[in-house]
Amino acid sequence: MIKTDVLVIGAGPVGIFTVQQLGLIGLKAEVVDNLDKIGGQCIELYPDKPIYDIPALPVCTGESLTKNLLEQIKPFKTNFYLNERVQEISKEENNWKIITSGKKTFLAPNIIIAAGVGSFEPRKFSVKGAEKFENKGVFYSIKDKNYFKNKKVSIFGGGDSALDWAIELSKFAEVTLVHRREEFRGAEHSASVARKLEKEGKIKIKTPYQISSIEGEDKISNITIKKDDGKIEKIPTDCILGFFGLIMKLGPIADWGLNLDSKKIPVNTENFQTNKKGIFAIGDICTYPGKLKLILSGFHEGALAARACFKLARPNEKYRFEFTTTSKTLQERLGVKKSD
Ligand SMILES: Cc1cc2nc3c(=O)[nH]c(=O)nc-3n(C[C@H](O)[C@H](O)[C@H](O)COP(=O)(O)OP(=O)(O)OC[C@H]3O[C@@H](n4cnc5c(N)ncnc54)[C@H](O)[C@@H]3O)c2cc1C
Repeated sequence: MIKTDVLVIGAGPVGIFTVQQLGLIGLKAEVVDNLDKIGGQCIELYPDKPIYDIPALPVCTGESLTKNLLEQIKPFKTNFYLNERVQEISKEENNWKIITSGKKTFLAPNIIIAAGVGSFEPRKFSVKGAEKFENKGVFYSIKDKNYFKNKKVSIFGGGDSALDWAIELSKFAEVTLVHRREEFRGAEHSASVARKLEKEGKIKIKTPYQISSIEGEDKISNITIKKDDGKIEKIPTDCILGFFGLIMKLGPIADWGLNLDSKKIPVNTENFQTNKKGIFAIGDICTYPGKLKLILSGFHEGALAARACFKLARPNEKYRFEFTTTSKTLQERLGVKKSD
C-alpha cells in the first residue's frame, strides 16, 4: 500500500506540470499511466511535431516539451508507475483507495484525474481465440524480448512497430511477418531491411494476408491466414503479436461514479473538483463552459486543483500563497535557495 498526498492519473503534459505545482506547495504525488512512457498525447501521437503555443516557448516538440516538464519536476523525485491502468477507486474513511491493473494499491486523500481522452489501448485481433490466449501467446506489446527466443512468432501489422520487431526478433526467433496490404507503411528503410532478411531466408513475409483463426487447446499451435482471393495458409505458431496501433478509450473512469458529459468529467472551475470530494479532473478529460483543449489551459487547471488538494492533505495547516521569485520556502523545495 503506497500512501501519498495526491495520486495523479495520467502522465501527459498536464499531469506532469501538476506534480510541480503540488511539489511547490509541499505535497507529495505519485503518478500512474497506462502507457509504457511518459508524455501522453505529446509523446504517443506527435513527438516530432512543432508546438507553437506554449507560453514563453516560441516552438517546441511534443518530445522536448515532455523532457522539459520532467526536468522541472526533478526536485520532487516523483515516482511514475507506467504500464499500469487505474482500475478501481473506493472510499476508505478520509482517503481514496486506488487499485491499478498491476494490483498496485495507493491510499490518498486526493486524486487528480489528468487522463486526457482516456487510456490508450492497443487495437486487438477480432478473431476467435484471441481473447482466450491474450498474454498467453497473443500479445500487443513486448515487455521482454527474451520470452520469444527460439519460438515461432507471427507478427501482424504494416507499421514501424511490426517491422522493427520482426527485424529484431528474427535474430533469435522464427519470424513470419503478416500484413493485409502488399506495401508496408512503416519507414522505407525498415521495410527494405525486412525484404532483404526475407531474401536471405531469415524471416517469412506474407502479404496481403489477414488472420482468420487461432488454433490450439492450452496453447497456440497454429494460425490460419487468408488472402482476399480466398487462398488459405496454415502457419505453425507459438505466439502472435499484433501491432495495429492504439485507440483511446475512457476505460474504467466510467465506473467510478463520476458525473460524465459526453465522456468528459464536468468540474467546478473554482478548484476543478468533480462531483466527488477529493477527486479533481484537469486537462483534456475535464469539461466546463468555455473549456479549451489546450496544454496551457491544463496547466492553469492543475495549479488550481493542486491548491484545493492542500486543504484535504493538510487539514490543520493554512495554505499561504507565495511567489517562486521571492519565497525562500518554495526555493528550498526547488533546491535553488542560496545560503544568505
Ligand atoms: C496531433 C495533435 C496535435 C496537437 N497540438 C497541440 C498544440 O499545438 N497545442 C496544444 O496546446 N495542444 C495540442 N494538442 C492537444 C494536447 O496534446 C492535449 O491538450 C494534451 O495532450 C492534453 O494533456 P493531458 O495531460 O490532459 O492528457 P493526455 O496527453 O491525453 O495524457 C493523458 C494520459 O492519461 C493516461 N490515462 C488515461 N486513463 C488512464 C487510467 N485509467 N489509468 C492510467 N493512465 C490513464 C493516458 O495513457 C495518457 O498517457 C494536440 C493534440 C494532437 C492529437
